[in-house]
Amino acid sequence: MTAILELDGVSKVHPGGVVALREASVRVAAGEMVAIVGPSGSGKSTMLQLLGTLDRPTTGRVLVNGHDVGGLPDRRLSALRASWIGFVFQQFHLVEGLTARQNVVAALVYRGVPARERGRAADGALARVGLAHRADHLPAELSGGEKQRVAIARAVVNRPVVVLADEPTGNLDSTSGGEVLALLRDLNAEGTTVVLITHDPAVAGSSPRRIEVLDGRVRLDTGWRR
Ligand code: ADP
Ligand code: MG
Repeated sequence: MTAILELDGVSKVHPGGVVALREASVRVAAGEMVAIVGPSGSGKSTMLQLLGTLDRPTTGRVLVNGHDVGGLPDRRLSALRASWIGFVFQQFHLVEGLTARQNVVAALVYRGVPARERGRAADGALARVGLAHRADHLPAELSGGEKQRVAIARAVVNRPVVVLADEPTGNLDSTSGGEVLALLRDLNAEGTTVVLITHDPAVAGSSPRRIEVLDGRVRLDTGWRR
């Protein structure tokens, strides 16, 4: 089976000489839900950034749908990312001066969606996360859980094949965190591939597949189904 995302013997040395990943190999198949776990500083975010082509490896290969992306110029890589991958971050990364709807619309601009269709698509995505009634609010007027649901709407408005989430519940109370996880599980049930980093043992335990990272190495991978 072709992996939808793959790291093949990837190492990453950050500026300053920190080795964040050491010959890590990971294959994610279409439709999977994978939890990445490990202590702080073990290389989880680095791994997710490389899987999502936001960063380039020092050595080794990164493949998207079986194609080595190493030779692609930045512009081609951003285009690939915009059409394939949605990102959700612990700190939400919403633009403070834009309303919830405008934040979601911004994700459509990169895709070249015609202006008249953007508002409707954004409203659809916000309705999907239960926030139609908050579309005209600024991030500062939203709770943490609402902000993360806007971030999920922004991540999925382009109907990506894969959603990558870096500790999406890390800043949320357990109720809001539960809602965010339920949304990610629903997306996965509908066919979206989901890879999330989590500190929550319950989340990791209930995930069909768990990858444990320690000191930049994959210490345990409960399953790549062949
Ligand atoms: P985790 O997400 O598991 O906490 P990270 O992937 O963020 O781990 O970091 C792994 C290691 O790489 C850490 O030692 C961290 O300080 C270092 N690191 C991460 N990003 C950078 C960067 N942009 N520049 C320099 N060092 C970094
Ligand atoms: Mg991290």
